[in-house]
Amino acid sequence: MGQHTILIVEDEPAIADNIAFAVETENMVPIHAATSRAGAKMLAEHSIDLVVLDVGLPDESGFDFCRRIRTESDVPIIFLTARDDEIDRIVGLELGADDYMAKPFSPRELTARIRAILRRSGTSVPRVGTSAPEAKFLVDQKTKTIYFEGQALPLSRYEFRMLELMIRHPGQVFSRDQLMDHAWEEPDASCDRTVDTHIKTLRSKLRKINEACACLETRRGWGYCLKVDP
Ligand code: CA
Repeated sequence: MGQHTILIVEDEPAIADNIAFAVETENMVPIHAATSRAGAKMLAEHSIDLVVLDVGLPDESGFDFCRRIRTESDVPIIFLTARDDEIDRIVGLELGADDYMAKPFSPRELTARIRAILRRSGTSVPRVGTSAPEAKFLVDQKTKTIYFEGQALPLSRYEFRMLELMIRHPGQVFSRDQLMDHAWEEPDASCDRTVDTHIKTLRSKLRKINEACACLETRRGWGYCLKVDP
């Protein structure tokens, strides 16, 4: 079973280090961003299971960043806050946060809450409207299975990681480098042709389920994307 990846968006290094250490101790994988800009990049490029988000960031408030995340993702979010009035806003504004912790907090308490939330959201379903193309896909992170129109796709690890990334960002164009960075532990060992090969097998696996499926688009000169119908 795959390990959970926790994105820590926190500009104070000492606090971020403490959280990262506690997360690692719990056998989860921490990745750290000190700004919302860096956090957004990591959300786009990695498969993140939960976000620990500081309210007071240097480039943008955690509240605004949370709103932006929520326009495209239902990833669980735990706020870190230093002030009581911020707690009022978290509770009152319905930002879509799953929980919050007031500083100073115990890292063990935080990881206990992370665990509780991950248990609740064990199956990660991409955000859907029923007519949206991503509704055709369902990602089960627990079993690392992607369902297409209700049927499990027999995917290799690389195929899973590439398709899962595109399902989370429908319509977004990914270069071969981005797909490779996301799917391969050692991107240098592969080459562009490998991505093309995996896209080809992904397409044929999708077409076995639905012959008319043309949702994996090639953008010449750019890369690939999961098509969003108008
Ligand atoms: Ca801060």
